[in-house]
Amino acid sequence: MLGKFERYPLTFGPTPIEKLARLSEHLGGRVDIYAKREDCNSGLAFGGNKIRKLEYIVPDAIAEAADTLVTIGGVQSNHTRQVAAVAAKIGMKCRLVQESWVPFPDAVYDRVGNILMSRVLGAEIELVDEGFDIGIRESWERAIEDVKDRGGRPYAIPAGASVHKYGGLGFVGFAEEVRAQEAELGLRFDYIVVCTVTGSTHAGMVVGFAKDGRARQVIGIDASGTPGQTHAQVLGIAQQTAELVELGREITAEDVVLVNDYAYPAYGVPSEETNAAIRLCARLEGMMTDPVYEGKSMQGLIDLIAKGYFRPGSKILYAHLGGVPAINGYSYLYRNG
Ligand SMILES: *Cc1c(COP(=O)(O)O)cnc(C)c1O
Repeated sequence: MLGKFERYPLTFGPTPIEKLARLSEHLGGRVDIYAKREDCNSGLAFGGNKIRKLEYIVPDAIAEAADTLVTIGGVQSNHTRQVAAVAAKIGMKCRLVQESWVPFPDAVYDRVGNILMSRVLGAEIELVDEGFDIGIRESWERAIEDVKDRGGRPYAIPAGASVHKYGGLGFVGFAEEVRAQEAELGLRFDYIVVCTVTGSTHAGMVVGFAKDGRARQVIGIDASGTPGQTHAQVLGIAQQTAELVELGREITAEDVVLVNDYAYPAYGVPSEETNAAIRLCARLEGMMTDPVYEGKSMQGLIDLIAKGYFRPGSKILYAHLGGVPAINGYSYLYRNG
């Protein structure tokens, strides 16, 4: 589906699929859980899902002869850290706008984890006092203008690398990769569980899995806390990406399955149940998840299994999208584990 698009390799290659046998057993043994480890996809500053998207965006930045990647996220954004690492790797500068998306009071929140790495990676960082919004932001547009005013050539990457003409392509590739791995493993996944916020990860998967009739088997777990806006953004990106790759069929609102029950109390703030899921997964599988994204999708996976959402005997692929560096910003919360 992606043959005609240029890809700039930034990942190690296909990401491993690992069976989570102890977690499956602990949850009753009626379904088999596997994890696809996007968190281990690259040597670029701990990697994560934005790197897979950026492989299809970087060729456009190079073609436009840009010299500065400009993007936006929260203070502990994984996305901005990955853009900073990619900019370093391809020899560009990086300008980051980091907004106060998360009302979290940890004393070291703006000094550790992702933002620490972005600073070490050489990005120029502007902290802006604005709340959470996955849409196009004025502060980001101002930063783009500022780079131009200083004689630079900015290349604009929106939040999460999502609302970008090529933002959905990386996770179309994910679906193709899964199909090839299924053939090797001799199995077929009945469901794919993914954390959804800015939307192009889920949207790319919807398009990629629509090819073999599994669009609605992609179960998005909302972590934005603004599920109406997130659903609309996933649908828009999926429709635009479907056209781009010439899928040959319409993507409709029903193709985007987004579960809204686990984003509480707010974006970036874990609930008791999120923390229980993080600890359970860590203690049974040695697999770390974070309080902003994967902890919530893991919580959703565990709860949906308990509720009998998945047919007995199902094989479920949990997409682990990365994000563990952010846990450093929650040092007080996890001071006793
Ligand atoms: C960005 C991110 C997500 C959400 O992906 P979107 O494409 O923004 O919906 C999930 N998990 C992690 C770790 C992320 O960094």
